[in-house]
Amino acid sequence: MALDPYAACPCGSGKKFKWCCQPIYVDIDKAFRQDEEGQHEAALKVMDQVVAEHPANPEAWGRRAQILYQNDRVDDAEASLQKALDINPNYPFGHLLRGQFRQAEGGIAGAAREFRTAIELYDPEAKDLLGQVYALLADCELKLNKPVAARAALQQAARCQPANEELRKGLEALFGDKSPVPASGRKEYQFLSPSGSGGGRRTEWDQALAGLTSGKLSEAARAFERLTASDPGDAAAWYNLALCRAWLGENDGGLEALDRYVGLEADEVRAAAAWTLGEILRCGQGMEDDADYVEHSQMFQVREPQGLAQQLQGWQAARRLIGLRAEVEQGPVTGLVLEKLPPLAGALAATQAPKLGAYLLIFADRVRLWHTNPTALEAIAEELRQNLGPALAEPERMRGPVNFHDVLAEALVFPVWTANAEEAKKRVAEYIERYFEETWIHRPLRSLNLISPMDAAGHPILRKKLSGVIEFLDECRGGRPDAVPYDFARLRHKLGLSGEKPAAAGNGAGASAADLGAMSAAELAALPAHELTDDRLEEAYRAALKLDAREIAGKFARLLVARPPNPKKTDRYPWYSHLMRLALSEGDSEAALNYVNEGERSDCEQNEGRRRNDYELRRGQVLARRGDADEAERVFSGLIARVPAEARFRISAAEAMLSANQPDKALRFAEEGLTQARKANDRDSEEYFKELVGAAKRKVGAGT
Ligand SMILES: [Zn+2]
Repeated sequence: MALDPYAACPCGSGKKFKWCCQPIYVDIDKAFRQDEEGQHEAALKVMDQVVAEHPANPEAWGRRAQILYQNDRVDDAEASLQKALDINPNYPFGHLLRGQFRQAEGGIAGAAREFRTAIELYDPEAKDLLGQVYALLADCELKLNKPVAARAALQQAARCQPANEELRKGLEALFGDKSPVPASGRKEYQFLSPSGSGGGRRTEWDQALAGLTSGKLSEAARAFERLTASDPGDAAAWYNLALCRAWLGENDGGLEALDRYVGLEADEVRAAAAWTLGEILRCGQGMEDDADYVEHSQMFQVREPQGLAQQLQGWQAARRLIGLRAEVEQGPVTGLVLEKLPPLAGALAATQAPKLGAYLLIFADRVRLWHTNPTALEAIAEELRQNLGPALAEPERMRGPVNFHDVLAEALVFPVWTANAEEAKKRVAEYIERYFEETWIHRPLRSLNLISPMDAAGHPILRKKLSGVIEFLDECRGGRPDAVPYDFARLRHKLGLSGEKPAAAGNGAGASAADLGAMSAAELAALPAHELTDDRLEEAYRAALKLDAREIAGKFARLLVARPPNPKKTDRYPWYSHLMRLALSEGDSEAALNYVNEGERSDCEQNEGRRRNDYELRRGQVLARRGDADEAERVFSGLIARVPAEARFRISAAEAMLSANQPDKALRFAEEGLTQARKANDRDSEEYFKELVGAAKRKVGAGT
């Protein structure tokens, strides 16, 4: 190490080399040179002598640790480093070295902590050294899936070493336009300015900003902590605190501050953008319990490669292994394993579009499977276990941060049997649409306090967060909108989050041509329903049901049943059934019964009475609900006598009687059902009837 005597000392003391560690460096240099030339024992002997002569200088112990580590004497290296840090707990190089030790053994979070400590302790003038530590830190933050912190670190590294081309190229590759990171995870964030605060607060703000310019992020964070503590209503201070924490890799604290900010921010667009950042923070390591998207994985050791090769061939023959990519020979193999579907023959097979079962990686004797959906993953892992038996060791199961690319994995299908490319594209698009608009929309999300998007849309604060959540999904497509062909404007629009119309709908042709499936509940409610054709009205009814807008669906159903008979559509049971349930939920059993009567009559006249049993079942349920237990029993008994083999009617009868607090009657239906199920060898029903018998008996017991 040929060092400029007037440069900052490598120990990190902040003194110039000449006035600090130069005296011991003649020997240290000699030791490092000997070690490089292969004279390891001689090198270590020199270092032993250096610490003997300068036992109070942490740098002597620290460099000895470094050489010990290079010689694989890990324990001795740790001990020597500990000695250095005992002498001076704020020995900057000591923390840098310890971070490298942690990083080498895979303790990335611990390494990042040590690097941050080193950065805080190094003299700000030791630019070159600081640049190195920042670059090491950026690498750790990337591995921890914390792109915001990684970008901040890499930017600092580039500031410390402005001539370093590699750092600038790295910054561009990782966070530039071609970056795989979602836009909100790689953009340059700016502090918000103070909102008209008085003199005292102004000083605090200035201190915070000074901390930022000197690179002392933790000082800036502390200043904003004080500002938010003294005025919890200061939205800008919360936002800035969140940024500081995100840059520091403190994702949980950052998310907490963003939560406060979103609650205070009246501007919906800004609040939503903050919550998109929040979604990025949720994907960082250590945030798994707060994340809606987590990577589940299982890693197997393969004891006998033959079985695995056969399995892969089998999957390929069944078109269940796609996107297979092998690096160079013997290198890692990656691909996607699709879910197993029941075999279909001929033309039907071409309509199948399996979902992702698991991502696959094979390297050396390891197989790694992963997915955001643990059930899908388990099915593939189980298949592997079944087929490979003892050739496979017990898997190592893990849960960790999601790869941003995989966030949308559940929305994808793969129409591998569809020969026509256009047709295949259509299937993929249709599935994604259904997934977001019918499944995802009703799924409680951690980012929305375990409320579903559908319900969150009506809540003033959750609404802002919901916009951010959808933006995050949109951004997760990265540069691959083709792979995930979905217009998220549809989803925003459907949830009433924006005035903008999705590209497919609203082409000015009015309600007769508009895409009813893309409408929000408010728009459906405003439709001139009387003017719609029967088909369009039914489409509107289904669209309202999908949104769980039951009242609006009821309005359409009332119109539909009032229309004259339609020979193409003779079955009106779904509409009557909906109206009946709606009436019951409003406590109007009289109206519910009227719908049953009316529906059954129309079924008789127009539909050859095909739905008679369904209507009678409803009749029994309504009667039980309104307390006519004897009458209900008579209806259920009549129904069961007509179709004695149908277990579901007996189950419904017992359930209705249990809810109506008629355990004796429930017990009779359940016991008869149990006998019947045993006779028919119907195991599932048998189990369920047993439960019903038990429940009825407990109620009988409680009543006496
Ligand atoms: Zn020094």
